[in-house]
Amino acid sequence: MNSTEVRYHRRRLADVAQGMRLARTQIGREQQPRARLALHQQRRLETVVRHAAAYSPFYRTWLAETGALGSQPIDLAHLPILSRPLLMEHFDELVCDPRLHRDELLEWVGQMTRDQLYLDRYRVLLTSGSSGRPGLFVYDADGWRSIAAGFVRSADWCQLRPTVPRQRMAWVAGARPSHITRQGGATMAIGLHRILSLPVTLPLRKLVEALNRFQPTYLNVYPSIAMWLADEQQAGRLHVSPQIMATAAELRTPEMTEQLVDAFQVRPFDLYGCTEGLFGSECEYHQGIHLFEDTTLVENVDADSRPVPAGQPGARLLVTNLHNLVQPLIRVEVTDMVTVDPDPCPCGRILIRAKAIHGRNDDVLSLPARGGGQVAVHPLHFALLTADPDVREFQVHQDGPVIRILIVPRSSAGSTTADDDDLETRLSRAVARQLAQLGARDPQVTVERRHELARSAGGKLKLVIAGPSSKPVNIDTP
Ligand SMILES: [Zn+2]
Repeated sequence: MNSTEVRYHRRRLADVAQGMRLARTQIGREQQPRARLALHQQRRLETVVRHAAAYSPFYRTWLAETGALGSQPIDLAHLPILSRPLLMEHFDELVCDPRLHRDELLEWVGQMTRDQLYLDRYRVLLTSGSSGRPGLFVYDADGWRSIAAGFVRSADWCQLRPTVPRQRMAWVAGARPSHITRQGGATMAIGLHRILSLPVTLPLRKLVEALNRFQPTYLNVYPSIAMWLADEQQAGRLHVSPQIMATAAELRTPEMTEQLVDAFQVRPFDLYGCTEGLFGSECEYHQGIHLFEDTTLVENVDADSRPVPAGQPGARLLVTNLHNLVQPLIRVEVTDMVTVDPDPCPCGRILIRAKAIHGRNDDVLSLPARGGGQVAVHPLHFALLTADPDVREFQVHQDGPVIRILIVPRSSAGSTTADDDDLETRLSRAVARQLAQLGARDPQVTVERRHELARSAGGKLKLVIAGPSSKPVNIDTP
């Protein structure tokens, strides 16, 4: 081992040890009064904002211009909102270390082969930007340890504990080393568990082979990949029996959950994570995703950035990372649409719970309405496609007035069914009916078969590719 590797290894052990300590403190706060959490959040917010004002040229000017530092204590609602384009445009002035430059980092990230640290110090993460706007994020040691704490905490919630013999964890995750799940997995791979990290781009046959060999006790996959694996398991080609299963990063409909339970005989935990630092997990009750508000503040807002009350769907989130001091992320826009559950969770944890994470707001289609104007169509309105026994996965494209649906049929699907309706006709009729019920004017729907669907660079399946006329709107989700 050379000296860089030794330093890296030491740093990783420290990251995990600190992450575990932080997770323990956070778990200790979960059942205490919310006032205690609020006190902690305010203290961290003051630290981050004052640090940004002192060390980030961008924030120094911006916070002064908006007068946000005038109030005492600092009022989150009066801080300016940072959009993704603004974050990228002013990257060099926004970071608190003048050695960090956007273009150099983008080039460096492109050449990463594993989870190297930049300047021996920083984790650099790139999001593919399913919205077409990539994001570059840099984490210092403390910031990254709060991410490690998120991993430890969600593992604790699903009862994943170090055991003898060791747990065998399989991750089917982002293909690039700059992806947060890849770097998170690499950080946690200090020997407590056996870890197999498989890129999502691996052909299905290879994935099945690797999983059969490894026999994971814990399996973490994207929902769309989980559905392929469920099919393989049902067909007898895959034979694994994970005790714990988790999915993340894509929409998982109730029908998909039931198919996974049928195939693997365990109820999967749904996890949430974004590179801005907001993490969350289902608890043992599986009634929505608790958001880890002690690491990041989260505000649910409408398209005009006004707060949305619990029980109503928001258009996006504003996320404030309470630990990252090298790239202060204060009220950063994240395009996930969430409805917060107004009721307390039976588990007794005080962390707010996303009743549903409906996907990204750029997944919403905007179609001409019968009575004039536009009607917003949410990705969940296409859930009837996953409910169809002959459909393995789908993707919706908006081509001008036509809704073009690409489907990958299950191997069992024939070209015709008993009632002589072929799959394409049956699905296009069902979707057109659904869109008409929502108020769309003469919806035109076509269905085409494919062997596979295009995925993003990070390996995620984008369910809806909206036309250029679609824009974020305030909507009622199904
Ligand atoms: Zn709960």
